[in-house]
Amino acid sequence: MVLAMTQTGASYDYDLIVIGAGSGGVRAGRIAAGHGARVAVIEGDRPGGTCVIRGCVPKKLLMYGSAFSSDVEDARGFGWQIEAMPRHDWPALIAAKDAELERLEGIYRALLKNAGATLISGWAQVCGPHEVSVNDTVYSAAKILVAVGGVPQIVDAPGLVEHAISSNEALDLKQFPKDILVYGSGYIALEFAGIFNGFGARTHLVYRGDLPLRGFDEDIREQMAVALAERGIILHSGCTIAEVTADGVRKQVRLSSGASLSVDAVMAATGRRPNTAGLGLQELGVELGRHGEVVVDAESRTSVPSIFAIGDVTNRINLTPVAIAEGHAFADSEFGGNRRVADHKNVASAVFSQPPVASVGMTETEAQAACAAVTVFTSGFRAMKNTISGRGEKTFMKLIVNADTDQVLGAHMMGPDCGEIMQGIAVAIKAGARKADFDATIGIHPTAAEEFVTMRTPRS
Ligand code: NDP
Repeated sequence: MVLAMTQTGASYDYDLIVIGAGSGGVRAGRIAAGHGARVAVIEGDRPGGTCVIRGCVPKKLLMYGSAFSSDVEDARGFGWQIEAMPRHDWPALIAAKDAELERLEGIYRALLKNAGATLISGWAQVCGPHEVSVNDTVYSAAKILVAVGGVPQIVDAPGLVEHAISSNEALDLKQFPKDILVYGSGYIALEFAGIFNGFGARTHLVYRGDLPLRGFDEDIREQMAVALAERGIILHSGCTIAEVTADGVRKQVRLSSGASLSVDAVMAATGRRPNTAGLGLQELGVELGRHGEVVVDAESRTSVPSIFAIGDVTNRINLTPVAIAEGHAFADSEFGGNRRVADHKNVASAVFSQPPVASVGMTETEAQAACAAVTVFTSGFRAMKNTISGRGEKTFMKLIVNADTDQVLGAHMMGPDCGEIMQGIAVAIKAGARKADFDATIGIHPTAAEEFVTMRTPRS
């Protein structure tokens, strides 16, 4: 092996060792290799990481599959004669999903190989500021990048850890449940509640808050609670799980409200935690935060100068495109002679619930705290497709504007295609668009999106 020589004269096996071949780690590894660095990427599971193997991709495929049931219902209003709901073959969908994941895993492997990076299979442990051990071999590198992501966190309640599945298992169920309880009301809870409900499971959503989606705009949260209930999801707000027991294959769940439920499956979607356990970071003096996250500066550098971290393991904004941006900025800065940091401002996101939610920028509450005066524009309407489908569901949109500068601070939407629509709105907000710019933009008719450029009367 040719040893890399650093500026200090010390020699290492590699210029960079990346731990974790998820979206962020692979981006950092291949960009660094493109800049001429000698790179090894270590992965204990399948390349692709959470997003490709256990998250965004399989989840969205199942979401697409489950949404056909509401399409069938809507089709009747358009004259389609559908006598009974078509039968769904769950194992066939899981097999198709698995084949797609295998294809994507192959692409991730090829991305690294083509960039000239070495993929090492095994679980890594950091054993020095420049050393990583894997499969009983110690490799050295000038720099180490920790990109190990997060893992599901099941909160402590009697019987919950023992009997509940997490999103990992929910993506691979051998048998589809007749009924399920989903615990939590964040991104993952709402997305999976929509999937199970769409495929016909009687779905209970149990959450401790008064509304789902804490952290989102309050109006969106209220609209979402109405829409979920209208879609048939049974909401248990203000509740926690007191105990889960198993009675044969059925699970008995006692809620803090005193109610009891009997279901085929319980899914805990009560957050994720950084995957730092057993990595050896703390022993080396790498500072970890309250939740086990690696504490980093804007350049993703940890308290040990040769060790960096990006993505969910740093618990900044836990989204794939953010991890990719952080990984790319790290590689350009440390190996490409172009020092830059990932921009965490005005990052748009979508929850692929049914209906979906998307937002960018400030909520109304955040804007009120940040500005002297805020103007709010809202629009709630029945999408054109729903007029003759008979679906009562409303689309809801909201713009939040700084009343003094006219700058649009936030945009929020619940309704079909909002993830697609919000990406364009995010460009405008990132560019500092004013409400007058939205007003001067001519809409595309007839679309729901045009409402974002035709809202004229502020909410009183
Ligand atoms: P979230 O933080 O979004 O939601 C966690 C849920 O668990 C909340 O409803 C929370 O309640 C509840 N919870 C936490 N602790 C307890 C407790 N002790 N008792 C009862 N309930 C509890 O996490 P997710 O796991 O859904 O998602 C993790 C992250 O992954 C997201 O924040 C997001 O960044 C990312 N993600 C993004 C997706 C996307 O872009 N579409 C999809 C999936 C995940 P409360 O609100 O009251 O605190």
